Amino acid sequence: MAETKYIFVTGGVSSSLGKGIIAASLAKLLQARGYKTTIQKLDPYINVDPGTLNPYEHGECYVTEDGAETDLDLGHYERFLNVNTSQANNVTTGRIYQSVIEKERRGEFLGKTVQVIPHITNEIKERIQLLGKNHDYDIVITEIGGTVGDIESLPYIESVRQLKWELGDDNALIIHLTLVPYLAAAGELKTKPTQHSVKTLMESGLRADVLVCRTEHELSDDIRRKLALFCNVKLEAVIQSIDASTIYDVPNMMLEEGLDTVTLKKLNLPNDTAPDLTQWNEFLKRHKNPKHEVKIGLVGKYVELQDSYKSILEAFIHAGAANEVKVNIESIHSEFITDSTIKNKVAHLDGILVAPGFGERGIEGKIDAVRFARENDLPFLGICLGMQMAVIEFARNVLQLKNANSTEMDLTTPHPVIDLMEEQKEITHLGGTMRLGSWECKIEDNSIAKEVYGTNQIFERHRHRYEYNNQYASQLESQGLRSTGINPKTGLVEIVEIPEHPWFVGVQYHPEYKSTVANPHPLFKAFIKAAKEYSQKKKGASLAR
Ligand code: GLN
Repeated sequence: MAETKYIFVTGGVSSSLGKGIIAASLAKLLQARGYKTTIQKLDPYINVDPGTLNPYEHGECYVTEDGAETDLDLGHYERFLNVNTSQANNVTTGRIYQSVIEKERRGEFLGKTVQVIPHITNEIKERIQLLGKNHDYDIVITEIGGTVGDIESLPYIESVRQLKWELGDDNALIIHLTLVPYLAAAGELKTKPTQHSVKTLMESGLRADVLVCRTEHELSDDIRRKLALFCNVKLEAVIQSIDASTIYDVPNMMLEEGLDTVTLKKLNLPNDTAPDLTQWNEFLKRHKNPKHEVKIGLVGKYVELQDSYKSILEAFIHAGAANEVKVNIESIHSEFITDSTIKNKVAHLDGILVAPGFGERGIEGKIDAVRFARENDLPFLGICLGMQMAVIEFARNVLQLKNANSTEMDLTTPHPVIDLMEEQKEITHLGGTMRLGSWECKIEDNSIAKEVYGTNQIFERHRHRYEYNNQYASQLESQGLRSTGINPKTGLVEIVEIPEHPWFVGVQYHPEYKSTVANPHPLFKAFIKAAKEYSQKKKGASLAR
């Protein structure tokens, strides 16, 4: 097998330029040409992983099959490539230091002074090459978080410098993503910030091979020539990345700009076969030409920040395309839902999704939203905390168990219908200690779940500490809340549903993490289908009136 090639993506001028989407789009194009490609994200912060971060900090925490809590960019990688990522695909400064310090404590450095160079940089280089060595990928794309010039990303930039020197120019490539701002007063695009950011990169010994320029306006030939000349790259290596209406357009835009061709040429890899994007473009066609429209309420407490529920929003896009339905999401802040506001906020919707979450804030609003959906035959999907709220709502309002709750919210509740998992009771550390990653679930026959999945055995990803309390199972079941998915080893309830209701499903796991463009998640597909049917019925009823 040929040697693995490494592509590094750095960012300049500003954060939030979309390095993750550019990396994922390039990976898609390379994959579509037949190259086995994976992507890795290096994050310069000191948290060991983003699991302990509030979603307001960096958006959603994504979870992989192997139970790694990771940056949300890994979600984009999986959604674009339809290939699983793992713990090795996301490395933080915290994890690097933790590992070097543990080695030092074991005495592995044989009395040497442990320093950023070479010890930290060696650890970084090892982590970068791990994916190439262990999984025989043709190409590994490594995205360096942050912006060049940041103090905290310096060790990463230095590691890339060393690696590029060690691997040689044919085997390693630097793509620098930058911003070309438009000054309305001057009516001009400005290249100076890019020149400065390339210069900053050079101060650390790195030369950009390819420039991807984020811009709101087309780059003229003049601007491209100027960028090439002053930034020391070939003209064909100046790639425009203009604002897109959907992130799923970016691979085609990069194809048009020749990002994949210039990359392959530089890496000395054959570029004669055109990428096969048939399936991708089929998805785009359905996404852009919907035949119906539905309104879904996303009830959560982090709704101010789009990135908090990234995977859910993307799963809706995949499921919408599969159903040829445009899914309009209305974000509803659960803290502002009360008995008197609920009707106004949700009565016009075609479906309600109650989102995952932690802690007490906003849960009463979530419970009100579940109740409205249950009592009004509105399609309902509850995910993780959303499923737990559905159980609490049912216990309070159908079983009449006053003050039923989860012990996460109320330790002294008389009816702990959701309770801490047994194995969690001794745990004191918060980082990486939840029930994480992929677990098996057995599905009961004659259920919505069985119809949705078409099988009795599924594996889904998890991230929780609390669970359905089986002591209440017979009461809940006898009154109409069926448990239709159960972990065969522990008996933990994974799926609840109401057979009396047109479509009411709560899941303890996170289906959103496994939805990809190539494989929209069956639960989201079925939920959107139910919402579509609900909206058509509503329309029919209002016409008949
Ligand atoms: N806070 C709940 C638990 O820990 C739900 C977690 C979630 O929604 N991801 O069980």
